Amino acid sequence: MSEFLDTYHRRIDYMRISITDRCDLSCIYCTEQAVPCLAHEEILRYEEIQRIVQAAARLGVKGLRITGGEPLVKSNISKLIELLVQVEGIDDITLTTNGALLGRYAEELKAAGLKRVNISLDTFKADRFKEITGSDKLKDVLDGIEAAKKAGLTPVKINTVVMRGINDNEILDFARMTASEGWHVRFIEMMPLVNPGNKGSKMVSVREIRETIEGSIGELEPCLATSGRGPAKYYKLPNAEGTIGFIGPVTECFCATCNRFRITADGRLRPCLLEDDEIDIKGPLRNGAGIDELEELMKKAAVLKREKHRLNETYTHGQRQMWQIGG
Ligand code: SAM
Repeated sequence: MSEFLDTYHRRIDYMRISITDRCDLSCIYCTEQAVPCLAHEEILRYEEIQRIVQAAARLGVKGLRITGGEPLVKSNISKLIELLVQVEGIDDITLTTNGALLGRYAEELKAAGLKRVNISLDTFKADRFKEITGSDKLKDVLDGIEAAKKAGLTPVKINTVVMRGINDNEILDFARMTASEGWHVRFIEMMPLVNPGNKGSKMVSVREIRETIEGSIGELEPCLATSGRGPAKYYKLPNAEGTIGFIGPVTECFCATCNRFRITADGRLRPCLLEDDEIDIKGPLRNGAGIDELEELMKKAAVLKREKHRLNETYTHGQRQMWQIGG
């Protein structure tokens, strides 16, 4: 197997697959306006996703992350995991979720072959949770975190988008959970995808988050990632079992080490999160394309992969919102 490299010699070994554009939450930084959800027949079927993954694995993709929308609102997602586990060359299948349905599905996902989950949680306060997500499901999410741990979908990572004036006064509460509960918390800079004209107004930089933690709790020691192929930089508080990760897409562009491409729920290969270049793979697949042709489409997508995003320059608004791409 040859290496799957893009124009800038980055090795692509990771694919994020959005399996639905539907979500049971409606987070303020993710959803700008309601866009009609895709029709059922527009969405890739599980067998089609397996076929795409077979082609990707032949090129050198090893890790998969299932995302959405909210992946757990899809029916029978364990069946998809079972199909993907069978693909030769795939050694790591993970899932990103808001966690609200994990209490119900954690055990069966683990049994199907899912390795780990990342769970999005931005606040511990019920009224704020409602303000951010439009829902009352905070308790379900907290139960989902426990269910994931109990099922062995570990290490569970918590993704927290920090927003000025909304949840930035909970940075220390999240950081302390790495010591008291052994959580692995990743602080993420809010990308200006909703109201992009309002660039960065609520974004808190990873540098500021780090200074807030070090100024109040203690020095952070660099450490290795517990798992995964992502861009976070990891640290630990003294004596903490869990880790603190920082993901700074806005102030610390990490495109130089980007190792991934995406599949949207409606079957488009998307080489960059923040660029609208896409290649249709569902059409050729449904017209009988063989595995060699699918591989060729992926190589074309790799050529389209940009050197870096333009979030801080010309970026105005992509054609898709985050829930339509899969973060
Ligand atoms: N529904 C799942 C979830 O909540 O994790 C998966 C999809 S969601 C789009 C994936 C991740 O993208 C979440 O961790 C979310 O916080 C993050 N996200 C969405 N919009 C974002 C933005 N504007 N800036 C930074 N992260 C964002």
